[in-house]
Amino acid sequence: MHLRSRSSLSHLACARCGQVVSPNQLHGACVCGGPLLCHYDINALRKNLSRGSLIGRPATLWRYAELLPVQDAANCVSLGEGFTPLLPLHWGEQHGLPNLWLKDEGQNPTGTFKARGAAVSVTRLRELGVRDVVVSSSGNAGDAWAVYCRRAGIRATIILPDDVPEATRVETALTGQRLHTFGGHNGRGGRLARAYADSHQSFWANTFQEPYRVEGKKTMGLELAEQLGWRMPDVVVYPIGGGVGLLGIWKAFMELKALGWIEGKLPRFVVAQYEGCAPFVEAFHADRESCEPWGDISTLPGGLRAPKSPADFLILKILRETNGTAIAVSSDDALRAVRAVMETDGVFLCPEAGTTIVALRRLLAEGQVRDDETVAIINTGSGLKYTSLFPAPLNRIADEDEMLPS
Ligand SMILES: *Cc1c(COP(=O)(O)O)cnc(C)c1O
Ligand SMILES: [Zn+2]
Repeated sequence: MHLRSRSSLSHLACARCGQVVSPNQLHGACVCGGPLLCHYDINALRKNLSRGSLIGRPATLWRYAELLPVQDAANCVSLGEGFTPLLPLHWGEQHGLPNLWLKDEGQNPTGTFKARGAAVSVTRLRELGVRDVVVSSSGNAGDAWAVYCRRAGIRATIILPDDVPEATRVETALTGQRLHTFGGHNGRGGRLARAYADSHQSFWANTFQEPYRVEGKKTMGLELAEQLGWRMPDVVVYPIGGGVGLLGIWKAFMELKALGWIEGKLPRFVVAQYEGCAPFVEAFHADRESCEPWGDISTLPGGLRAPKSPADFLILKILRETNGTAIAVSSDDALRAVRAVMETDGVFLCPEAGTTIVALRRLLAEGQVRDDETVAIINTGSGLKYTSLFPAPLNRIADEDEMLPS
C-alpha cells in the first residue's frame, strides 16, 4: 500500500457521558460503560482534502485514510477489504422500486462486512501495542478477527456459540488461533470473553468495547456516498444486531456533510430483525430510549443475535431523528427472500440481509417507501457462509439417456 495520507483523528469521546480521552492511548469502553467514538479534525481536512483527492487511490477502504483512526495507513493489515460493489437489483424493478441498490458486503474477505471492522481495529490496536486479544461473537466477527489477527501477528482467542455455521467455525479453526465454543444463551459469550481478558492480560475486543471497529464499518457509508456520485440514498435498510454498521453509516454521512462533500437530508434509517430477537423493534415501537435485554433468543444462527446493544440509545435516536422505523420478520420469510433474490438477481444474500427484503416489501405495501425513491440495502454477508440452511437436491443422473433430447 503506497498511502502517505495521515489520520486526522483528534480525540475520542464517550457517546453517553461526553468524557473526552486521548486518541493515543489504548482504551476499551468509557468508565460509564458507554461507547467511545472517534472524532476528527474536520476543519483542517476541509482545507487539505477534496473529493478529487481520492482519485487514483486503492479500491479498498484504506482510500479514506484521513477519516480512519490508523496513524499510518502504510502499516495497514489488509486482505483487500472494502470498496464492495453497489449493485442495482432487478428484484426492485419487479416490485415497483427501480432505484434499489444492494451494497454487497459478501464480497469482503471472510465473506462479511466484519472484515472492515476487524481490519481497521486490528491495525489500530497493533499500532497501540496490543499483542493479544479475545473476542466473543455470534459468528462472523469471530473468523474475521481470527484471520486479521493472524495476519497482524497478534494472538487471538475466539469464543463462538456451539451452533455457529460450519464455514465460520472451520475458517476460525484453520487460522490456528485459540477457538472455544459455548452453549446456552447469548449473553454468556461476552461474560466468558471478559473473564478471559481479565485473567490473561488479553485485550477484550468485543463490539462497542473498543472504539475502532465502528470506524471500519463506517467506510460502508463513505463508499455508498461516493458510489452514488456523492449523494445519499433516501432510505437505508439494514439488518441490525449490535448496530455497529448502522451507526457507522450514519457517522460517515455526518462527517461527509461536515466536510461539505455531500449535502441534503439524511436518509431514513430502517432496521430489520428476526422476530425471535427484536430488542430494537420492541423499544422503537414502545417509545423507549433504550432496549430491554432480549431474554429468550430463538433465531437462525448469525449476526442478529444481540440481546442488547451498548449503543442502543444512539441507534434509537438515529431511527427517530431520520424518520426511520424498525421491523421484525420471521426466519422463514427471510429464508424465502434469500431464494427470491437468488432467482431475480443471482446474488446469494445472507439470511440476515433476507430480513431487509421482507421489511422493504412491507414498507412498499404500506406506502412508506415511494417508487421514485433511491433505496440502499446492505447485504452484510455472503449466503455461502450459511449453505446448510438451504438444502438442495442432488438430482442424480441414473442413466445416460436422461441427458438426451426426449
Ligand atoms: C454482525 C452481523 C450483522 C449485524 O451487524 P451489527 O453491526 O452488529 O448491527 C448483520 N449481518 C451479518 C451477516 C453479521 O455478521
Ligand atoms: Zn461515558
